[in-house]
Amino acid sequence: MPQPFHSPVLALKVDVCTHTGLRDGVPALMRLFDELGIRASFFVAMGPDHSGRAIRRVFRRGFLTKMWRTGAASTYGWRTMLYGTLLPGPQVARAFPETLRGLVRAGHEVGMHGYDHVYWQDQLPVLSEAAIAAELVRAHQAFTEILGAAPHAFGAPGWQCTAASFAGEDAAALRYHSDTRGTAPYFPEMNGRRFGTMDIPTTWPTLDEVYGRVGTRAAEITAYYRGQLRPQLNVHTVHAEMEGVRQLPLLRDLLTAVRGEVRIVRLIDVVPHLEAVPVARVVPGSIAGRAGTVARQEPVRD
Ligand SMILES: [Zn+2]
Repeated sequence: MPQPFHSPVLALKVDVCTHTGLRDGVPALMRLFDELGIRASFFVAMGPDHSGRAIRRVFRRGFLTKMWRTGAASTYGWRTMLYGTLLPGPQVARAFPETLRGLVRAGHEVGMHGYDHVYWQDQLPVLSEAAIAAELVRAHQAFTEILGAAPHAFGAPGWQCTAASFAGEDAAALRYHSDTRGTAPYFPEMNGRRFGTMDIPTTWPTLDEVYGRVGTRAAEITAYYRGQLRPQLNVHTVHAEMEGVRQLPLLRDLLTAVRGEVRIVRLIDVVPHLEAVPVARVVPGSIAGRAGTVARQEPVRD
């Protein structure tokens, strides 16, 4: 019988979107989590780093504002911003297989964060089911090659989802995915289709959405997130490129402050506690501090 949560829980998701995020951010986060006795879920881009191609987003409203507010150039580095354009894109997961194996040995969970992150994030709405299935197969192959076991979790790059991507994930036989923004785990319904793989949505705003809006100092950021804490399940996504590098002190402050109040777990640890998971529609929605739209769990109406 599933046991519902009796006290607040914080599931910690680390998105690893880039080559430098895995090289520099992940080892630093592993040291922090080791020190604090935390196990987290790392979602790693399994293919090439084409971050430079994200420059196309410059034409989207709100993109430049976010870049300046969060200091994106110094967070990602100029090299990363040229990958896939003037410089060839290096591999992410395949460049650091030992780091991925080290994550598993340390008791962390590893999932797929797409294959070509930028391609998924920017092109998904125009991709066919076959093209999406091919990305999932490539990601699955890289994961299995590196870790010697099949993946059981996927986190959609940029929180971008379509009915075709949910169908592709269903075919990948996952335990769950963490693709959307929302309030509580659910089975997605999109364009009148229902899907069989549960989504565990991110419930908190990400640091790049709030940094510079609620403050920039650790005390301000930590106070803001403590105000977000709800009973039962909270899901926080951090970025290896951001909280693993320049903003590590902010994450340290936050985790140190909340770890006495909540149990910090991996996303997979949430699954056995869930019962009667509802169906919810997924709709595109905008998020304060973020350019473009993301896939959002539609709030329950009754
Ligand atoms: Zn990402």
